[in-house]
Amino acid sequence: MGKVLIIGAGGVGTVVAHKVAQNPDVFTEIMIASRTKSKCDAIVKAIGNPNIRTAQVDADNVDELVALFNSFKPEIVINVALPYQDLTIMEACLKSGVNYLDTANYEPKDVAHFEYSWQWAYKKHFEDAGLTAILGCGFDPGVSGIYTAYAAKHYFDEMQYLDIVDCNAGNHHKAFATNFNPEINIREITQNGRYYENGEWVTTQPLEIHKDLTYPNIGPRDSYLLYHEELESLVKNFPTIKRARFWMTFGQEYLTHLRVIQNIGMARIDEVDYNGVKIVPLQFLKAVLPNPQDLGENYEGETSIGCRIRGLKDGKERTYYVYNNCSHQEAYKETGMQGVSYTTGVPAMIGAMMFLKGLWKKPGVWNVEEFNPDPFMEQLNKQGLPWHEVFDKDLEV
Ligand code: NDP
Repeated sequence: MGKVLIIGAGGVGTVVAHKVAQNPDVFTEIMIASRTKSKCDAIVKAIGNPNIRTAQVDADNVDELVALFNSFKPEIVINVALPYQDLTIMEACLKSGVNYLDTANYEPKDVAHFEYSWQWAYKKHFEDAGLTAILGCGFDPGVSGIYTAYAAKHYFDEMQYLDIVDCNAGNHHKAFATNFNPEINIREITQNGRYYENGEWVTTQPLEIHKDLTYPNIGPRDSYLLYHEELESLVKNFPTIKRARFWMTFGQEYLTHLRVIQNIGMARIDEVDYNGVKIVPLQFLKAVLPNPQDLGENYEGETSIGCRIRGLKDGKERTYYVYNNCSHQEAYKETGMQGVSYTTGVPAMIGAMMFLKGLWKKPGVWNVEEFNPDPFMEQLNKQGLPWHEVFDKDLEV
């Protein structure tokens, strides 16, 4: 059905490559390209399909990307490099007539700032070129938006309160490690918290608000209010929402390490001079922390991510909780990666599948909740991320 180019050969890229290769009826030709070609070759070896091609590319360089796109001629690019590369890859897609999908919104390297404006600014260009760009198609952002769209379509006349809850109850047996790229992860968590209420954004201190929430099959876990990028598009696309928040669990050990990292200046993202060499402390820290891709083997436990929604149906109040639990060990057995990479990579593959099947094909730049959620939800059940629903129970939020 279609040719796909995966950019990025990290934890998420590895899962995307496995899942794409498992669906040969949809993905007829596959290429993996990244900064370090040997990592792409290692993925191909692990999958055991010599027909998958690999290439070296610097995704910060539009000309290099255009040359690669023009030689391989993919129909869609799955961008699972870093958020810094979103705009260069989108530019190259426009120049070469290629469709686009990513899992995280653009961030400039020198400020940790999360907003869609930079990518939404490309809407008219993609429309004029007849190309589709699908933004934020991992789990959160991604499935969180699709769950919300599904709830709005099937269960609510008026969706009023949305809480996205993200629990990682896994144990990787390391004193401190992040579950995906440490630089991106620490930038996100050390930001001020922010949520939406009655048409306004309310800012909190980082990790200021927290409460125990109970996760299915896991139990209660301390959950912290964070800003998360999908809140921006969800309150725009579902204007009946009165309040939207995002919660993530952290253990005390993790938070203690994080506090020390910040207090000693290792979370800084500006350049410092070290013996005549310019280094960014957070990038240096990434180099000495455990590689998230190596956590899988000893990772136990599971993740649980979902949406808790309250609103009106037929004039009556209704609550709805939709979630997926994902086992780190099962994810590792299937792809060699832990659950956080798995829960991101599977939806990215499904988004590209939706495009190639013509179900999510619409020129412009779109967030996932702007497409029909039904065929995506059906694939989640088939591709390793089954979901469950709870109606009219206490949401705790
Ligand atoms: P990794 O750091 O493991 O992998 C990133 C990959 O991108 C690496 O292979 C890296 O190359 C490559 N890369 C970085 N810069 C360039 C460049 N300039 N040119 C070409 N390749 C480059 O990250 P993850 O796999 O953990 O995360 C990937 C993406 O997924 C991130 O954008 C992250 O924000 C997003 N994500 C989204 C989630 C969601 O639910 N929506 C959840 C988790 C992650 P090299 O190996 O040489 O360093």
